[in-house]
Amino acid sequence: MANEMTTPKPQKGILEIEPYVGGRAHAHGAARVFKLSANETPLGPSPLAKEAFIAAANQLEFYPEGSAAELREAIAERFGLKADRIVCGSGSDELLHLLAQAYLGEGDEAIATEHGFLVYPIVTKAAGAKIVQVKEKNLRADVDAILAAVTPKTKIIFLANPNNPTGSYLPVDEVKRLHAGLRPDILFVIDAAYSEYVTKNDYESGIELVATSQNVVMTRTFSKIYGLAALRLGWMYAPAHVIDVINRIRGPFNVSIPALQAGIASIRDIDHFEKARAHNTEWLDWLTVEISKLGLEVAASVANFLLIRFPNEKGRTAKDADEFLMKRGLILRQVSSYGLPDHLRLSVGIEEANRAVVAALADFLGRKS
Ligand SMILES: *Cc1c(COP(=O)(O)O)cnc(C)c1O
Repeated sequence: MANEMTTPKPQKGILEIEPYVGGRAHAHGAARVFKLSANETPLGPSPLAKEAFIAAANQLEFYPEGSAAELREAIAERFGLKADRIVCGSGSDELLHLLAQAYLGEGDEAIATEHGFLVYPIVTKAAGAKIVQVKEKNLRADVDAILAAVTPKTKIIFLANPNNPTGSYLPVDEVKRLHAGLRPDILFVIDAAYSEYVTKNDYESGIELVATSQNVVMTRTFSKIYGLAALRLGWMYAPAHVIDVINRIRGPFNVSIPALQAGIASIRDIDHFEKARAHNTEWLDWLTVEISKLGLEVAASVANFLLIRFPNEKGRTAKDADEFLMKRGLILRQVSSYGLPDHLRLSVGIEEANRAVVAALADFLGRKS
């Protein structure tokens, strides 16, 4: 038995972290299984990205080019940005960790919202700081509540826009109002993982705010609309002084050659991107309408998933629904760890999956309990 007193001890805060539990990936007994629990794209990656990935198999003995220059150039070209204001990472998760490590320490506070992404408390506590979770209003971030929670100890604000798992977003005016109310020494991190799906005119991903201020960072990912979740690839756009800091602490080869090559091919394949976006717009709308018709409350979403509320009634709860759907091979995500025990999150799937979900929900609600 190890002696309590003499074992190595982690930094303060680490053991307070609730380990992240992802959406389930397997259902047993069903003829066909649809994984709708992790907001992955139902259309898969660009075929050009797959080709680039396979070609990268011939270079496995080599270290990647450490600054991801070619990928940063491709991203910069696509969005009209400066490549030297971009850092790539092993998923945006890595970038969130690095930002927290760089700008938070013991005694500091980071603010996130009540139903915000679970990675924010993890990276904050890992850096030894305290996470302050602010109430939302109707499942949407509340700018006034966030500003009211700022203290002299606040160093970072994390805002997912759109947010996961609520699917809601803050319009550009609200994001600007939030920024305008922050001290200039507070880093405002806008996590725009789902920005590509948003079709609203009053939405902006954060690029404009990063470009015109010194304390805003936007993170993006290749895991969602680009369909490269397996490869772990994300990027951030930030002021030069933040780029300098993150480049000092990141791993010198933090993005692999297969990820770099697939990322470059993906970002250039506009056709596949548009197809994925159009598919989502169509089916997000269809699912919202059809599930609402069944009498379930569906939160308005601008992302590639939606949040369904179930009655708090024996045999009809979110948990019951989840078990029922699971038996039909439909894997959704319970979100009680996000403070939403009455909801399930459903990712938009291919047509067959979407229709199967609606049919199964109708059966679930219609059956005798
Ligand atoms: C999926 C998701 C990400 C992406 O994380 P990666 O590490 O890039 O895969 C980031 N933020 C939110 C809110 C997400 O839901």
